[in-house]
Amino acid sequence: MVKPMKNVVRMLPRRHKITISGITALLLILLFWPSERASASRNHEQAETMLELGKRYPLPLTLALNELDEPTQQDIDWVDYEIQPGDSLARIFSSLGFSAQQLYRLTKADKDNLLRRVHPGDSIQIAKDANNHIIELRYALNDTDTFVLRSQESDNDYIASRETKEFESRLEFAQASITSNFWNAGVEAGLTQSQIMNLAELFGWDIDFALDIRQGDHFAVLFEQKFVDGEYVGTGNIVAAEFVNQRETFRAVRHENGNYYTPAGKNMRKSFLRAPVHFTRVSSSFNPRRLHPVTGRVAPHNGIDYAAATGTPVMAAGDGRVIASAYNNLNGHYIFIQHGERYVTKYLHLSRRHVNNGERIRQGQIIGRVGATGRVTGAHLHYEFLVDGTHRNPRTVNLPQSESLPADELKPFTAIAEQKMAMIASRQRIFLAFNND
Ligand SMILES: [Zn+2]
Repeated sequence: MVKPMKNVVRMLPRRHKITISGITALLLILLFWPSERASASRNHEQAETMLELGKRYPLPLTLALNELDEPTQQDIDWVDYEIQPGDSLARIFSSLGFSAQQLYRLTKADKDNLLRRVHPGDSIQIAKDANNHIIELRYALNDTDTFVLRSQESDNDYIASRETKEFESRLEFAQASITSNFWNAGVEAGLTQSQIMNLAELFGWDIDFALDIRQGDHFAVLFEQKFVDGEYVGTGNIVAAEFVNQRETFRAVRHENGNYYTPAGKNMRKSFLRAPVHFTRVSSSFNPRRLHPVTGRVAPHNGIDYAAATGTPVMAAGDGRVIASAYNNLNGHYIFIQHGERYVTKYLHLSRRHVNNGERIRQGQIIGRVGATGRVTGAHLHYEFLVDGTHRNPRTVNLPQSESLPADELKPFTAIAEQKMAMIASRQRIFLAFNND
């Protein structure tokens, strides 16, 4: 109840404020007079649930002022106007019964021209007095920021300001076991599309979401939900998460710098992507015995095959330099990339190549497109990972890590991480208890 009353008080001329604070003091004494205590607190509760922001509550003040024989009374009216398609400020103001001159005075104070940028669906609140004088104009810029023009008592000018409300974050928990695929499990857990993507991105350095996910894998996530004035406005960051993939557990906690680290402070981000194709584009996500597309044998061949539609983007697994971008009958269109001294990655059977020999490329950069060129039967990416000239399985090889947290940040981080992981563990226990009943 504090906010609307504050607004009304703020809009009154100063001498009224002084009178009002006198009245308020008097009311407070009356309210908390011992014999009235019970009913007073009940009224207070009632008032709290009944008053709403932006509504008109002039009555108590007007009455109080009348009783004191104030010469002028302030009867303030709030108008709430929703912008219609094709509206202009001039049109809005004249339809609300204001003059062009009044509009001019308001826009003069609006140095950033925020009012010129109103969109259909936005709304403007205007407070006017009995003389049709605009006392205040409010325009919500987004969930938290409101642009305010307020009349000065001394002259007809307005002062512009921006009021910012704080987001309130609440922690939510979600978890799921994978039965069909990761995406469906995320949806079943109640995560949004972008949260599912974020989760895959977060663990995508350790887990190949295209090929490594198995039935029985599971995950648990602690994430923020944002509220303004008690109203839900959207999801925030993933705060901490756990992913069990083929019985191996991975944990990630968000640091205040926005990056994710293991509870021990190691960066989740690695020098190499686990998979050079986005997991949502790979079709054979759930096939543990993948046959080689040509030989028909279960593969111990030198690479990994990602079955994906022709045209699917292929990303560079790490920063590096292109050492081959060419075509031959066996590989079709292919690209080789050298990463530092020890590592080489190879991408075969492409339909298109986007980079040239010698070019420097960044991790995640799209270097070409999946295709069916060379000695293949169907569209797929054949990917190879070499360490010191020897083929290694990129899904099991230990990859170099990015920097860990600096020592001075490590201690506070691990304390917070421990707390967050404990929250996940306890919520998982509660969840399991409920589901076993
Ligand atoms: Zn292959």
